Amino acid sequence: MLLPEDLEQSISFCVMPWVHFHITQYGTVTPCCQAPWQEEQAFGNINKQSVTEIWNGEKMNAFRKGMLEGKADKRCEGCFIKEQEGFTSLRKITNAKYKHKTDLVFSTDKNGVIKNTKPVYFDIRFSNVCNLRCRICGPWSSSSWFNDAIKLGMISEDKSALTYSFENTDAFFLQFREMIASLEELYFAGGEPIVMDEHYRLLNMLIEAGRTDVRLTYNTNFSSFSYKNNNIVELWKKFKSISIAASLDAEDKRGEFLRKNLKWEDVIANRKLMQRELPHIEFVVSPTINIYNVLHLPDFHQDWVNQQLIRVEDFIPTLLIYPKDLSVRILPKGFKNKAIARYKEHIAWIQEQLSVHMEKRGHMLQQFENILKALSSTTENESIDLFLKNSAAMDKIRNEKTVEVFPELAELFVI
Ligand code: SF4
Repeated sequence: MLLPEDLEQSISFCVMPWVHFHITQYGTVTPCCQAPWQEEQAFGNINKQSVTEIWNGEKMNAFRKGMLEGKADKRCEGCFIKEQEGFTSLRKITNAKYKHKTDLVFSTDKNGVIKNTKPVYFDIRFSNVCNLRCRICGPWSSSSWFNDAIKLGMISEDKSALTYSFENTDAFFLQFREMIASLEELYFAGGEPIVMDEHYRLLNMLIEAGRTDVRLTYNTNFSSFSYKNNNIVELWKKFKSISIAASLDAEDKRGEFLRKNLKWEDVIANRKLMQRELPHIEFVVSPTINIYNVLHLPDFHQDWVNQQLIRVEDFIPTLLIYPKDLSVRILPKGFKNKAIARYKEHIAWIQEQLSVHMEKRGHMLQQFENILKALSSTTENESIDLFLKNSAAMDKIRNEKTVEVFPELAELFVI
């Protein structure tokens, strides 16, 4: 059985089941957004059970029990793999953020039951509503992808573009009202939260309840600050603690190409507005590194720092693992060597910057070092042909030309 002094060193313990409630866009309730969403692996389904029933249910209790017994749960594989590869995992981030819940963990009974508690940290995916159709995404996460997915033969026409998690949203909001008093954090992610009605309904409920101290964290595509008659800037001004990670993969035309429907001038205007009117918001650019943007990314980082849109430490890249046809691991060796040289130069540039917060710098540099590691790894079985084939198919249906937007990739297209 795990002891309090073992917590920090444990390679499998995660505090999530003591604090967190994640509802997927399919209505299943799972350990977190990194765990599988399927019914068989979920704790329950929000359309069949209440929040309280799932929170105190057999499956969630068994998950807590396993954690306390030091067992590595298969559903947490995503975090374990990231850690083995040197990346920071959601497990580690959450354990650090919710250290103050240690007493609760050790007051759990031997069957995993915690009495008189409610989740304090919600991640609710109301739907797949999104205004963009990014190259690295798909119809399961973006309603705007629907027509492209049909043309590519990924889904059939009789499917619906929209996926909603709740059969009865009002019934959930009634339950949620009961949780507000003990709430610590709400996490919003896609689809795209800024264009979801339910996101505004939650914020307004918090404001009405006087809970503007609840921490709001976002993953947003940063394309728009207006939706219907909601004024997100005025709403955000009321909240004390907000962190935003903007999913921007490249600058300008490259950025618009990778995240289709995005207008780069809106991104710049939104960032400047935020700097002017919402300086209390913690902001980072969170790009996903893939074949398209791998050579361009250091330029993007440096440009934004030079334009004073971010500090050097506010740029945290993540390496794309899936889909494999976009992973830098399948790049040919010669191209990888070119990328390695570019990243070495870039890391040296980062190190020269002076105004860097040490703790965050460590995290950011680690992410860049991991990119180097991935580029240095053996090329995987899938060849670059898979990327070329899929990007050509996308170019065709979108009437685009990858090499015109990314001339630095031209050598990949010479067969
Ligand atoms: S270990 Fe990772 S996958 Fe498992 S619950 Fe924690 S954050 Fe989620």
